[in-house]
Amino acid sequence: MAEEKVKVLIIGSGPAGYTAGIYASRANLSPLIYEGNQPGGQLTQTTEIENFPGYPEGIQGPEMMEEFRRQAERFGARIVSKTVAEVDFSERPFKVKDEDGNVILADTVIISTGASARYLGLSDEEKYRGMGVSACATCDGFFYRKKTVAVVGGGDTACEEALYLSTLAKKVYLIVRKNYLRASEVMQKRVRERENIEILFNCNTVGLFGDEVVEGAKIVEGKGTENEQVFDIDIDGFFLAIGHTPNTGIFRGQIDLDEEGYIKVKAPSTATNVEGVFAAGDCADPTYRQAIAAAGTGCRAALDAERFLMEH
Ligand code: NDP
Repeated sequence: MAEEKVKVLIIGSGPAGYTAGIYASRANLSPLIYEGNQPGGQLTQTTEIENFPGYPEGIQGPEMMEEFRRQAERFGARIVSKTVAEVDFSERPFKVKDEDGNVILADTVIISTGASARYLGLSDEEKYRGMGVSACATCDGFFYRKKTVAVVGGGDTACEEALYLSTLAKKVYLIVRKNYLRASEVMQKRVRERENIEILFNCNTVGLFGDEVVEGAKIVEGKGTENEQVFDIDIDGFFLAIGHTPNTGIFRGQIDLDEEGYIKVKAPSTATNVEGVFAAGDCADPTYRQAIAAAGTGCRAALDAERFLMEH
């Protein structure tokens, strides 16, 4: 088992982590990036990305992440395809152990471990991922212009996504498992007033079907009651909006997290409550969750780390 010392350790490899890597390596800080078990992060699960500036023709998510990665490597970032298992932020240099037990002593740490959209757990979600199943209306809604889509969830995200999709799609079903929406009053009102949104209360999705892409969903209404009914809806897109989980489990007890597990930062900086530890991207962002926003905070985290190293 090896031990090494670095000035900047970046944990996580989506747009935030790689951008931090580009900035830190260009600042001659020789960053080490632990890219984890999903190199490139959530964007490697999507298909075409049309809203990242600089790609007027659009680009595939995995390809864009590969370009970010190459750009970080070009300036000397070292990238390790492993996960971090344990961190100790109680003193500097910070002590981080990877999955193989190797120890990294780091003067600064940038956390960019992202968040994962929650799915229902149906095997069909896997089967049709990128073929009609999505967890991001802003990313993929455009592909469903004048089509019919369904959004699952009853919170603010689901309402926001349904409203956004209703401006593009012909019809939007909002599939809610309870008989009420959990979203704020104002969001509920907007959804109710939108003519092309139909709310299916007391409904659970139990399957999806379609030849190659999603063509419909199987719904159970009043599951477990004597009025239980099973029916199909014809849809072209199936959007999950049942929350995200920030990937911050290993930092619990080491840095301040909010109730949902997102890392608290001293905005507009990326500083956490531990001096020398910075956070960027979706692991610290319950609100925007966009690649461009994550890349922006990755840049800021690298600049914050650089400044911290100069001052100490
Ligand atoms: P929430 O946790 O608020 O809502 C999740 C929704 O998904 C709930 O309706 C929940 O149902 C439903 N759900 C969870 N699991 C399942 C499942 N297995 N099957 C079916 N439905 C399921 O998450 P959000 O992402 O909506 O919001 C997160 C936070 O961000 C909230 O605090 C929200 O207010 C905030 N937010 C604010 C916005 C704004 O102000 N513009 C926009 C977006 C988010 P149930 O109610 O039955 O538990």
